[in-house]
Amino acid sequence: MASQLATLRKDLSAPGLIRVVREQFSRITDTRRQGSIRFTLPDTLCAALAMFQFKRPSLLQFDEASHGDQTIIGNLRRLYWLDEVASDSQMRDILDLVKPSELRKAFRAIHSSAQRGKVLEDFAIFDNRYLLSIDGTGLYSSTKVKCPQCSVKKHRNGEIEHYHQSLVAVIVHPDQKTVLPLDFEPIVKSDGDKKNDCERNAAKRLLLAIHQLYANRPFIVLEDALAANGPHIQALMGYGMDFIINIKPVGNASLFEVMHERFLLNQATEEEQRLVDGSGRGYRFATDLPLNASHPDTRVNMIEYWEVDQNDPEKVTLNMELDHQPGDHQRERLRDRASRQNAPVPDPTSGGRRLVTVAAYPIAIWSVP
Ligand SMILES: [Zn+2]
Repeated sequence: MASQLATLRKDLSAPGLIRVVREQFSRITDTRRQGSIRFTLPDTLCAALAMFQFKRPSLLQFDEASHGDQTIIGNLRRLYWLDEVASDSQMRDILDLVKPSELRKAFRAIHSSAQRGKVLEDFAIFDNRYLLSIDGTGLYSSTKVKCPQCSVKKHRNGEIEHYHQSLVAVIVHPDQKTVLPLDFEPIVKSDGDKKNDCERNAAKRLLLAIHQLYANRPFIVLEDALAANGPHIQALMGYGMDFIINIKPVGNASLFEVMHERFLLNQATEEEQRLVDGSGRGYRFATDLPLNASHPDTRVNMIEYWEVDQNDPEKVTLNMELDHQPGDHQRERLRDRASRQNAPVPDPTSGGRRLVTVAAYPIAIWSVP
């Protein structure tokens, strides 16, 4: 048993993982005419992987290092089994033909290795489920260099920005310093002109792919407020995925109204705890709320969280989006707090209570079990 575990852990070493990925690369169909091939597809994909792992900022820089830097040349040989690396323009020509979705199998293989090596167990949370954080990330941006697949953004000053973004799904755990990348989906030009459209359309493809590849893995999907819309939440529910999604009053006004009504009707659970140092924290939550008027049958739970400043009890750190004027919801919250404490209702805009803000999922909705 011990030797079996040792073997499993060896698979999770850098050389072991690169071997697993390379094996998947070798299964991708090479659409080039076989007679003219000098650099194989697995070799070129491995070289691209090395470029990222060696943190080279560009193909050209990697090209130069892989032909001149003896340490890199040695590592390419030892870790990636590469005697020779294609030039940056050759690499572009070869890799442009590979569909990004073909690389999905490599992520799946790494995930299986992590599972066999018992690493996945360290990430289990809430009855053996897994927190899957999904968010968009930028890979490239330029006002000068572009390609036909670039997304395009026109700035107010007339400047045209060309960029590439990807939606990335990563298994996270509050006690783990590392994360386990699970899947990715490029946001492509045809996904739309607005950031929201782009992420939403890419998210549709990503969720479907995750559902197909990990149908039996119980996920709790973590997402920002862009995901707090009916079609996306219904897709999550349809795939049997639980979720915790950050919301903002500007995008989910009706939820905040319903929450306030529930509070007034004593149908919300609320707790505020004061610590000896004068600081405090509190939360309010309610269950089974309609997402919005268009999706009354999509039911969610909602939680709000706030903190009270240690040195200034009048300074309430509210669970709002960053840097904007106190909105109706904040006034309501202060009115609610004041009515509980039988204190006069302060006007948050007049400097009575100062409002500061926090980020990171302070207001969230989650799936109704
Ligand atoms: Zn491009």
